[in-house]
Amino acid sequence: MSFGAPYLTLPSFKYVKPKTLREVLEFLAEHGEDAKIMAGGVAVIDFLKERLTEADYIVDIKGIEELGGIKYEENKGLTMGSTITLYSLRESRIIREKYSALHEALKTLDPILIHRATIGGNICEAFPWMDTVPPLLVFDAELNIISLKGKRKVKLKDFIKGTAEIDLNPDEILESIFVPEPPVNSKSKYVKVLAKSEFGVVNIACLVSNPVDPSKRIVKLAYGAASPTPTLVPQVEEIFRREAPLNKLIEEATSVVLETVSPMTDIHASEEYRRYLIDVLTRKILFELLTAD
Ligand SMILES: Cc1cc2nc3c(=O)[nH]c(=O)nc-3n(C[C@H](O)[C@H](O)[C@H](O)COP(=O)(O)OP(=O)(O)OC[C@H]3O[C@@H](n4cnc5c(N)ncnc54)[C@H](O)[C@@H]3O)c2cc1C
Repeated sequence: MSFGAPYLTLPSFKYVKPKTLREVLEFLAEHGEDAKIMAGGVAVIDFLKERLTEADYIVDIKGIEELGGIKYEENKGLTMGSTITLYSLRESRIIREKYSALHEALKTLDPILIHRATIGGNICEAFPWMDTVPPLLVFDAELNIISLKGKRKVKLKDFIKGTAEIDLNPDEILESIFVPEPPVNSKSKYVKVLAKSEFGVVNIACLVSNPVDPSKRIVKLAYGAASPTPTLVPQVEEIFRREAPLNKLIEEATSVVLETVSPMTDIHASEEYRRYLIDVLTRKILFELLTAD
């Protein structure tokens, strides 16, 4: 896949606009192999123009009631319909107060784009630098997938298989995203380093709960833009459960992160530069959250 091809006109396709979720699923059951879902269309339309994707049918799911909305249940968590816009999420008080890393990630996005782009599109596009993914990984997000055959749940950490590769069959769509109530006394943060575009070259989400008590301490770290697939580093949880000086634990966690994330070289940055950023920023974000009041 190469970017920067000459700007082209749209190829021909049939535009389908179902009115209900049932109609979407019926259409996909019959034509899923030849169809492409369009939510905001920010990526799909661009990719069609650049001939990076093709489809006989474009199925527009924006405006389907069952796929919209945001619902928070105290002590349970937050459910976001897949077609809710990134703007609505950025403006959500619950997200700002309880899921700060996600709020911070949404604030880094282009202010025009977010009125059209959806959370489902951001996840399903599955490029390494998608900003909502690392925060959703540290909040342990679970995806609700639906087809005519029924529903299934899949953890976000298992959903993205590689660059633009997701665990979704042609007759299925992402219905909603569930993020559980964050652990008590938790704080979270998002850091994004830009190169020469709006996309990050290293994006980090971190969540810390009960920083002073190792037996109850929870530390989660996830990385985007650094390697072909966003990465959650579960080993750090175990490291921070031990009784040891914080600087030793941070040191150990940082080397485990560098090994697990395995930074890449691409047109935006070299492996060495990414390695350096991850090294410095992981220590910084951990120190800040572990020593916060
Ligand atoms: C100029 C520009 C700047 C950008 N900057 C950033 C940035 O800084 N950070 C960032 O994260 N992103 C960035 N993006 C990417 C943008 O955020 C995503 O393209 C957008 O979130 C996609 O959402 P959408 O609703 O428009 O998806 P669409 O374009 O409609 O769809 C994207 C993909 O997801 C699939 N899809 C969508 N919804 C569903 C669903 N419910 N079920 C199954 N499949 C589905 C589509 O088939 C398609 O493959 C940028 C894009 C542009 C054009």
